[in-house]
Amino acid sequence: MTDLTSLTIAEARTALASRSLSATELTDAYLAAIDAANGTFNAYVTVTHDQARAMAKASDARLAKGDAGALEGIPLGIKDLYATEGVHTQACSHVLDGFLPRYESTVTANLWAKGAVMLGKLNMDEFAMGSSNETSYYGPVKSPWRAKGSNEALVPGGSSGGSAAAVAAHLCAAATATDTGGSIRQPAAFTGTVGIKPTYGRCSRWGIVAFASSLDQAGPIARDVRDTAIMLKTMASVDPKDTTSVDLPVPDYEAAIGQSVKGMTIGIPREYRVHGMPDEIEALWQQGIAWYREAGAKIVDISLPHTKYALPAYYIVAPAEASSNLARYDGVRYGLRVPGRDIIDMYEKSRAAGFGSEVKRRIMIGTYVLSAGYYDAYYLRAQQVRTLIKRDFEQAFAAGVDAILTPATPSAAFAIGDKDMNADPVKMYLNDVFTVTVNMAGLPGMAVPAGLSANGLPLGLQLIGRPFEEETLFKAAHVIEQAAGRFTPAKWW
Ligand code: GLN
Repeated sequence: MTDLTSLTIAEARTALASRSLSATELTDAYLAAIDAANGTFNAYVTVTHDQARAMAKASDARLAKGDAGALEGIPLGIKDLYATEGVHTQACSHVLDGFLPRYESTVTANLWAKGAVMLGKLNMDEFAMGSSNETSYYGPVKSPWRAKGSNEALVPGGSSGGSAAAVAAHLCAAATATDTGGSIRQPAAFTGTVGIKPTYGRCSRWGIVAFASSLDQAGPIARDVRDTAIMLKTMASVDPKDTTSVDLPVPDYEAAIGQSVKGMTIGIPREYRVHGMPDEIEALWQQGIAWYREAGAKIVDISLPHTKYALPAYYIVAPAEASSNLARYDGVRYGLRVPGRDIIDMYEKSRAAGFGSEVKRRIMIGTYVLSAGYYDAYYLRAQQVRTLIKRDFEQAFAAGVDAILTPATPSAAFAIGDKDMNADPVKMYLNDVFTVTVNMAGLPGMAVPAGLSANGLPLGLQLIGRPFEEETLFKAAHVIEQAAGRFTPAKWW
């Protein structure tokens, strides 16, 4: 075989099962690719060579015995937000310097139990706050994509920027990611990869560093729709350690792929036609609509009237929860400690030195909107708006809509340094204008590549579904993938 790293999970699974490929060979191919290219991309913040080889060896033994799990021998990258026992877990923040968890997150434990191999930990925006991977303490991730005729370094999106770049550059077969306001779907759209944020409660949050607990969800980023389905099947579980985990059986998502969308009703929300959206995004959306019509789906115009309040409400709810979740980083229990003259001084110095500027902004906004006298005006109102957003979706689904089609992002990827968060954070926040609504409502949302921009960069469409109906999204996303094809960057590295 020529390039082992170009195999999808489904292809590798077949080769491993027939023993024409060993897990060790596959893992070594990925480790070599990472060693050669990570200096260029900065996608991994730590590479677990020895652990990967030991896990691959154990996989080979199980394959030999005919005892293979669903992800046996498949090499994965893990976002730095997931606790991995004894391995670098710092949410890409300075404040967690040196922190090595004594436990494994439920999602990663599920993956290892099914035979997957860990290649290392992936770069991300600090505490998952950002849309470009530029807030990471470990520096930005470079996208493997370049605009036509340009060598300018582009962002892979964020916060799961390392995950998306590593999948697109073939530095892992697939990756774990998380999505609080768009962090799976926006980087997937920017890199020509597929990402799903499942319904809130589908994957356990146990052992994932908390950002905004009522919005955070784990999910995969992978090369195609089938691989995304394979990943989610193993990542999802019912977990008594997360009280928001929902007690429903995990379906075989892969079985939905290839099913017809004939007779399915797809809603097109008029409020997602935002001011200043480039023509090529509108054209991509129309193309998606045309593909579904051809496939026999019914297209209906719908209204989600509270959409315009989603982003401002998100930037109250998410910082409020973050300010509470991040209170635990005090220099005592985890990571960095900067000595002070007394304990209060030590707390202050540790937090001042440990958090980056975007994280500090969120903590300040969060504590402000929760403070006595402002709570009703901001936090309570934002929660009320959240209910209205959720109701908009419920009404559309009650009227017979099976899935909603929107653009995934308002633009293609931009250059590193283009949107300065210190100068104008709102410019960056606007990246998530189409994705945050889904987190606010707790619904499943999936980004699937649908075409290229005029300058040759990937563009994605988003599918939004009813709670716990991820199968509908896999079925519908596959139709787009069949029509649009897959998108891989030309190799320049
Ligand atoms: N970009 C959004 C933010 O900065 C969402 C991030 C995420 O989904 N983790 O909050």
